[in-house]
Amino acid sequence: MKAITVEPKKPGAARVEDVPEPDAHYGSVLVEAVAVGVCGTDVEMVEGKYGWAPPGKKRLVLGHESLGRVIDPGPASGLKKGDLVVGIVRRPDPVPCPHCAVGEWDMCSNGQYTERGIKQIDGYMSERWRIEPEYAIKVDPTLGILGALLEPTTVVAKAWETVKMIGQRSFWEPRKALITGAGPIGLLAALIGVQHGLEVHVLDRVTSGHKPDLVKALGATYHSTNVENVGFEPEIIIECTGVGSVIGESIQKVGAGGVVCLTGVGTGGITSRAAVADISAAVVLKNNTVVGSVNANKRHWYKAGEALARADRKWLECLITRREKPENFKQALDRKPDDIKVVIQFSDI
Ligand SMILES: [Zn+2]
Repeated sequence: MKAITVEPKKPGAARVEDVPEPDAHYGSVLVEAVAVGVCGTDVEMVEGKYGWAPPGKKRLVLGHESLGRVIDPGPASGLKKGDLVVGIVRRPDPVPCPHCAVGEWDMCSNGQYTERGIKQIDGYMSERWRIEPEYAIKVDPTLGILGALLEPTTVVAKAWETVKMIGQRSFWEPRKALITGAGPIGLLAALIGVQHGLEVHVLDRVTSGHKPDLVKALGATYHSTNVENVGFEPEIIIECTGVGSVIGESIQKVGAGGVVCLTGVGTGGITSRAAVADISAAVVLKNNTVVGSVNANKRHWYKAGEALARADRKWLECLITRREKPENFKQALDRKPDDIKVVIQFSDI
């Protein structure tokens, strides 16, 4: 079968190649790939900046934002032939650490977790893949190809849960949330914010095109200014850019008792003008919380599935701006200005 593979840490070594059918040790459920979303992590892996091959192998099958159709449910999975499923990405570490031991692999504390398509386990960019029944998430069949948005939605489902848990340490009836960045993560964060009944504001650099339209279609407000100049004090900021200046301004802008949840991963960039002790003083004096959030456990996968199932299908469809064939995967990874989410489509749906 065909698969898109990389040689981790070797730039430009990605290719479509013939690989053996998925090995039984990957799990008893056999799935035909429908589509796999691409994100910044895939781009970094193709550029040789990130990724680990399975033990004893040189190459890794890429892909972690999966969507597939069950060909063979195997014994006792509760799945049926034809069901749409998405594969959970992370697996607990073998020790396991206390978090992994209780199923909170997203909080793994020893770093020895593995991840499909990223760290030591083949991913989902192959014509067929296998999965353990307990790591296969059944998707609402009416979502169709939109099920490929589930993995990025899990990231924001966890971020929102984290914000709520922190907020509830004291009286907590937030009204206004600011999302920084209107990429797929930011837009999905905005969707969940609106579903929670909040007044949602989204900030991004672009002034026209899909992003402002999608924000307005949610009933949220679009801003193309700095965080400093949004004109109100959000109680919640979900930071999805990873840009230093945006992070710095967010920490200073959030209202008293507010929560800034960082989900973006960046490096270097512009240094914030404010000194660390000044930022810290603002956080202390306003009882604010700055929290990082990455990955997701099974509870978040379930919540993300619920959020997508409730969402307007036409709006979700606008998030998938391009579909490419596996042989054109390089085009899929080449980010164009109007792209929101690009998927590699393996079979019709
Ligand atoms: Zn662990």
